[in-house]
Amino acid sequence: MTGFISLVSIPTPFLSLVKKPIQKLILLVPFMGLLGLAYAVHITSWDFSFFSKLVGLALVIALFGNLSFEVPRTNTKLTFADSVVFFSFIALGGGAAIILAAFESLYSCVRWKMRGVEFGKYTIHYNVGLSALGSALAVVIVAVVRGTTETDFSSNSDLAFIVLTVLSASNFLVLTVGTATFEKVVQNRSFFGAFRGSYLSISFTQVLGAFVAGGLYFLFNRADLVTSVFSLLVVTVLYLNYRQMFRDINESISQAEKADKEKEEIARLKIEEARRHATDLEEMLAKEEKISNDLRQSKSDLEHAAFHDSLTDLPNRAYLLERLGLLLKLGVRVSQNYYVLFLDLSRFKNINDSLGHTIGDEVLKIVALRLRRTLRDKDTAARLGGDEFAIVLNDVSSLDEAEEFAELVYERLTRPYSIKGNVIHTDVHIGIAPFDSEQIKPEDVLRDADIAMQNAKERSQGIAVFDKEVRSEYLEHIRLEGDLRYACERDEFSMHYQPLINLRTGELRGFEALLRWQHPDLGFVSPARFIPICEDSGLIVPITNWILKQATTRVAEWQKISNEFSNLLVSVNISGRHLADERLLTDVKSALEVSKLSPGCLKLEITETTAMENAEQTIEVLRQLKSLGVKISIDDFGTGYSSLSYLHRLPFDTLKIDRSFVLAVSKEGGDSQILETIIALTKNLKKEVIAEGIETNDQLSILMDFGCDYGQGYLFSRPLPVPDMEAELYKKREWIPYEQCAITPGVPRQTEQRVLF
Ligand code: C2E
Ligand code: MG
Ligand code: MG
Repeated sequence: MTGFISLVSIPTPFLSLVKKPIQKLILLVPFMGLLGLAYAVHITSWDFSFFSKLVGLALVIALFGNLSFEVPRTNTKLTFADSVVFFSFIALGGGAAIILAAFESLYSCVRWKMRGVEFGKYTIHYNVGLSALGSALAVVIVAVVRGTTETDFSSNSDLAFIVLTVLSASNFLVLTVGTATFEKVVQNRSFFGAFRGSYLSISFTQVLGAFVAGGLYFLFNRADLVTSVFSLLVVTVLYLNYRQMFRDINESISQAEKADKEKEEIARLKIEEARRHATDLEEMLAKEEKISNDLRQSKSDLEHAAFHDSLTDLPNRAYLLERLGLLLKLGVRVSQNYYVLFLDLSRFKNINDSLGHTIGDEVLKIVALRLRRTLRDKDTAARLGGDEFAIVLNDVSSLDEAEEFAELVYERLTRPYSIKGNVIHTDVHIGIAPFDSEQIKPEDVLRDADIAMQNAKERSQGIAVFDKEVRSEYLEHIRLEGDLRYACERDEFSMHYQPLINLRTGELRGFEALLRWQHPDLGFVSPARFIPICEDSGLIVPITNWILKQATTRVAEWQKISNEFSNLLVSVNISGRHLADERLLTDVKSALEVSKLSPGCLKLEITETTAMENAEQTIEVLRQLKSLGVKISIDDFGTGYSSLSYLHRLPFDTLKIDRSFVLAVSKEGGDSQILETIIALTKNLKKEVIAEGIETNDQLSILMDFGCDYGQGYLFSRPLPVPDMEAELYKKREWIPYEQCAITPGVPRQTEQRVLF
């Protein structure tokens, strides 16, 4: 018979399937196949003729059984062996068919195995058994239907046809059911799925096998030898032609399939590429999205950084100015609901210097935190830089309310706290400024609050409110400071010299060099007005350097006018700012070098207040100056708070009594005790004393009586410009007229004193 379907049509998946172990159930099949074979032996009448025909057909199967061709577009391979099995049934009987079916199946399996196909342990048993079983079943059915196992169909071709039909039908049934069962058991496939997969090819091979077998039988039974041989030749040629035709068809089908596959592959590749593109695109979009998000983020970070202070994260000056600008645009000046507070921490530099910048930073952070906690949502606090902060108070009904708020801020900020074991007390000065119509720019509002804060500082108050007068003073201050920067190069400065007179001899001892500023618009500006500005701004240092050179050169010149002037000295005022500056020493040295003035003819005047401000340092600096050979005078003495012990240690040469004490002396000589005391003190200290601001003869007389060494004042001369003073020098004028020297009018002075003149 057809053997086992898997070896007839060889479905590729099935070949792998047969490698798997066969389940117990299907082990029954080989046994049943054995029964079928036993049945075959039983119904067969064995004689030589039968045996030789059986062997002959077996040889035909062995030699030609594998003649086959594959039906195009199916997995079905038609083999000649099927037809031989069918043929044996009607030619030799059912027994021969069963034996040959089993043989054909075994032979096919062995052949496949020799070609390298691997079989499961029992697959060959199963195949052979199933083939024998299928054929036996068909034989039984035919025998039952016919009532005999007799197989001579030579006289009845219809019967042969029926037998072949039954044979192929029962074979079909056994093989399809057997295959489906096998696949179900071994591969766990659905039974009906497996059935559907194999029934077409099996039915086809059965029908065709039966047809070919019928044709062969008819040929051998009915035709003579020549016809048979001729027919066989025709069939062989036809077979070869068809085989070639089928091969060609299969070839072109496989080429078409290959082309289809290639097309499919191309389409698949295109789809894959399209998918890849889509994925790439998605990734690119995601990246772009991320980049633009990052950009947005960094933009907002940058904006934040541009408008915030990195240490405290409070808004910065730029932010505050923007906000103030906006408020000005909105016309806040009129509404009066906004106030600006300017805060400056006191002694913050000390914290930085003594405890380090890390603690300084912590202090600023704590201040920022306290401000945040104190402020309402509608207010804005900002760090302007360094230790300066500002607050914009919003929706405040009155100045009183703004002050109350400032007090709250002050109270919170000045609470002591501890950082790394250091108890810190932050003091603060707060200036409050309302908006007003004179403020044009946001900086103006901030400036007014700053002015108020400076005011608080000057008055040693915690809080001060802005005052318009202070603003005009401040604005003038700013203007003068700006103008002073260019005064020197614009030649607006000049020196005036006021004589210093020896009160014992009436001789000219020297001069005090006094700076004068001729402002192009304001005219003469008093030193009392502009000197403090020079000191605040630091301009005093280069200006004094210029004065030192001017004064020493001038007096060196004047010393040459006459022998009696050869020891004239010049007093130059030195401000506290310059005293603390290391350039002072070199400035003095270079002035002396340039002018060639003897160092003993240069006197430096330092006010008492300056000298006592940092007494230890002053002592050190004065020592260094004195080591150059210059003289030192303590100016405006009596206005400061000299400690006697320091005064004792201070390396000075002259005490200059402040003008106010001279002015206080009445005609009758009252209120002169202080003068007398200062002069006595100086004498005790073995220093010289000079009185300034002598305007009257009485003052002069008293001072002479007290034994004051030198005098300076309008009585002798006002400070004079160079040409005027030079004229006086050439005139050799008498500085103290004899008749003006009486203490009481009409009472002549003591003779020996007069002799001195
Ligand atoms: P000071 O050093 O005490 O100078 C003496 C001031 O008293 C001068 O005022 C002088 O003109 C004034 N004076 C002198 N005699 C009389 C008098 O009899 N009656 C009255 N009412 N005043 C008299 P000036 O020139 O206006 O200087 C004022 C202050 O400005 C100076 O006081 C000094 O502290 C400062 N100053 C002046 N020139 C300079 C300078 O070149 N450098 C520095 N650092 N300060 C200077
Ligand atoms: Mg002076
Ligand atoms: Mg003075």
